[in-house]
Amino acid sequence: MSTILSVQNISKRYGAVQALSAVSFDIPAGSVFGILGPNGSGKTTLLGIVTDVLKADGGSFTLMGALPSAVQRRQIGTLLETPNFYHYLSGYRNLQIVANIKQQSESDIPRVLELAGLTARQHSAFKTYSLGMKQRLAIAGAMLGDPQVLILDEPANGLDPVGIAEVRNLIRKLAQSGKTIIMASHLLDEVEKVCTHVAILRRGELLGSGAVNVVLARDNFIEIGSADSKALAQAIQHHPAFVQLLPSGDGVLQVTFNDKVDPATLNNWCAQQGIWLSHLQTSRKSLETAFLELTNN
Ligand code: ATP
Repeated sequence: MSTILSVQNISKRYGAVQALSAVSFDIPAGSVFGILGPNGSGKTTLLGIVTDVLKADGGSFTLMGALPSAVQRRQIGTLLETPNFYHYLSGYRNLQIVANIKQQSESDIPRVLELAGLTARQHSAFKTYSLGMKQRLAIAGAMLGDPQVLILDEPANGLDPVGIAEVRNLIRKLAQSGKTIIMASHLLDEVEKVCTHVAILRRGELLGSGAVNVVLARDNFIEIGSADSKALAQAIQHHPAFVQLLPSGDGVLQVTFNDKVDPATLNNWCAQQGIWLSHLQTSRKSLETAFLELTNN
C-alpha cells in the first residue's frame, strides 16, 4: 500500500506551548486515518501544517511521495472549519459559490450532491437543512474537483446522533470509492467505528500510530466463576495458556490467556481439575480501557 502522507519530526510551538513535539507517522493510501487526542493535543495544528495554513518550526512532510507542491495540493480536499454557507440560498447555490471561490467547474456539483445524498434537497434553502445535512454539504464542497484525499477536522463535532451516523456513512462511502480520508477527532467511539488507522496524540506527543486494532489492541479475556472461587483461582493459574487473573466482583474471575481459548475446552479443563463452573463468558477489553492504558491516563 503506498503512502499518501508521511509526516517526519514535525514540531510546532506557540510561545510557551509546545503544540507538537517531533511527530512522525505515515498515512497509507485508501485508509480512513483518525488523528485522535483530547482537546489541545495538537490535532488541528497538525492538519493546519499539512494543509499549508500553518508553518512548522521543524520537520517535514511528503504528499504522495513528493515534497508538497500545487500538483499534490490539487488532490486534497479540506474541511478544517465549518464553512460560512448562506442561509437563504439553496445547497446548490452555496456549492456554486464554493466552486467559484475554489476556481473549480460547476459541472461537478451534481456529482458531489449525489455522493452526499443531497440531490433531492439541493434546491431547498440551507437554513432548512438538518445539522447532518449541513455537514454533508460542507463535505460535498470539499469533494468538488474529485480530490483523492479528504482532510476533515472533527467532522462529527456538534452533530446529534443521527447527524453523526449520516456523516459516518458518507465517510465510509468515500473510503469505499478509494479515497483516503484523514480526520481529526476526540471521539474515541467514532474513530473506532469509521477509521482503519489511527495516530494518537497527547499534549503534542505521538503515543502510537498504525492500524486501529493494533494501536488500540483489545485482548480477549474470559470471565469464569465457581462455587469455590479460591480453588478456581488457584487451579486456573496452572492452565497452559494462563497470563493474568483479575477478580471482577461476585466471585467472578477475569482471566486473560496468551492464546485463543475456546470456552467449551476451558470448561472441560476445569472439570478435569475437579472444578465445576457456574459462570463462563468470553469478553473483550473495552476500547476506552485500551485507550486509557495507552495514554497512561
Ligand atoms: P481542539 O480539539 O481543542 O481543537 P487540538 O487537539 O486540535 O484541540 P490544537 O488546536 O492544535 O489542539 O492546540 C494544541 C495546543 O496549542 C493547545 O494547547 C492550544 O491551546 C495551543 N494553540 C493552538 N493554537 C494556538 C495559537 N494560535 N496561539 C497560541 N496557542 C495555540
